[in-house]
Amino acid sequence: MINRLKNLSVEFKNILKESSCLADSLGFKVYLVGGVVRDLILEKKVFDLDIVVQGDAIVFAGKLSELLGEKFQRHHSFGTATVNFNAHKIDFATARTEIYSKQGVLPKVSPASITEDLFRRDFTINAMAISLNGDDYGKLIDLHDGFLDLKKKFIRVLHEKSFLDDPTRILRAIRFEQRFNFKFEDETYKLIKSALNSDALKFVSHHRLRDEIVLMLKESNPSKYIKRIHHLAGFCFINGQIKLEQKDLDVFFRIEHSLNHYHKRLKKHRILQAYLIYLAGILCKLPLDKVKKTTYDLGLKKGEAAIIYSIRKGLLSIKTLKNYKTPHIIYKTLKPYSLESILFFYAYYGKDLKRNIEFFLNELADIKLKIRGNDLKRLGFKPLKLYSEILKKLLYVKIDKRLKTKKEELSSAQRIFYGLSQQLKN
Ligand code: ATP
Repeated sequence: MINRLKNLSVEFKNILKESSCLADSLGFKVYLVGGVVRDLILEKKVFDLDIVVQGDAIVFAGKLSELLGEKFQRHHSFGTATVNFNAHKIDFATARTEIYSKQGVLPKVSPASITEDLFRRDFTINAMAISLNGDDYGKLIDLHDGFLDLKKKFIRVLHEKSFLDDPTRILRAIRFEQRFNFKFEDETYKLIKSALNSDALKFVSHHRLRDEIVLMLKESNPSKYIKRIHHLAGFCFINGQIKLEQKDLDVFFRIEHSLNHYHKRLKKHRILQAYLIYLAGILCKLPLDKVKKTTYDLGLKKGEAAIIYSIRKGLLSIKTLKNYKTPHIIYKTLKPYSLESILFFYAYYGKDLKRNIEFFLNELADIKLKIRGNDLKRLGFKPLKLYSEILKKLLYVKIDKRLKTKKEELSSAQRIFYGLSQQLKN
């Protein structure tokens, strides 16, 4: 059984050994649980650890962090703690049971045994534990046939009220189904359908929905996840007006394609919030004012909401780029937009805008002037209020005429200055 832990990094193995000794000395029972166990069995790489303590998780994490010489954060109201270790995160939680009083609302929790803790989990494949205590070290605890379901590639809930207790599990089920290429076990599929028929997702707070949707859109190849939700549930649970059509699904595939294309072919690699491009694709089905309200309801950060809003707003006006335009017009049109927005337009309008957008990203986006206001001052240009206009016009000239040197910029600036001064005189 110890072999289950063989794929962990040496660092993690050492931490688990330390945890094991500490647990024995404190008389606590300690387990690795949930997705980590699933991923270890599937021989996937594990980045973070989830540890359940039958005892006080905060006390345990505090003592372990002392031993490791690391800091830890405690969350008293949840009975949980986190130790950050190098780039990794180790979460500790006190074993607990959950009682759902109202659909979609977070449950009341109380300390419990590992058996009860495993029973509160979403799917059998996520309801296994590995013991970390002395003699049992490495022993798999699989009370719900999770191991068998992993082999059969099944997503199966632990009890029939599972999706009603917590409808976000419907989205989690889809996430694991698509990520691992698994199937819903028959009864689980029926329970999903019946929960959806009773509009279960509408009872979930927008913030919890957002968390699940964002997690899904951060998976690789999100378009198949979107397609799956569309066929199974639709997106009315976000807003009744969101009704995707086949042509919208095609856009998501094109977004995926354009992101791959972008990574492979476009010269500059920047950090992208790719999930926002997909989310914009879903929310773009709404009128502009509803987009604003929905991003607010979902509790998106200001910057995230602004990107989605500008995509929706620019959707029609950006079409003007369809016919070939001079380079500085392409620049002027696209420069105000984030890279996420530009890639969305690229996918949305396909070949109509492809050439101009690629041209912008490859050749224009990073063009900057070599000269600044001080250079204009040195040339004795007056009044100062003309400077921003001169520099703006100069940038467009540079883009259109492909000026390379500072000297070329200075002589163009001179001509622009002369023109503007003439206008002022008249
Ligand atoms: P991922 O690989 O996406 O991180 P994970 O299974 O580790 O997946 P987490 O959201 O980190 O998912 O949750 C850790 C564990 O907590 C899960 O494996 C599952 O056992 C349990 N869990 C998480 N969310 C729920 C839920 N909504 N209902 C029941 N159990 C849950």
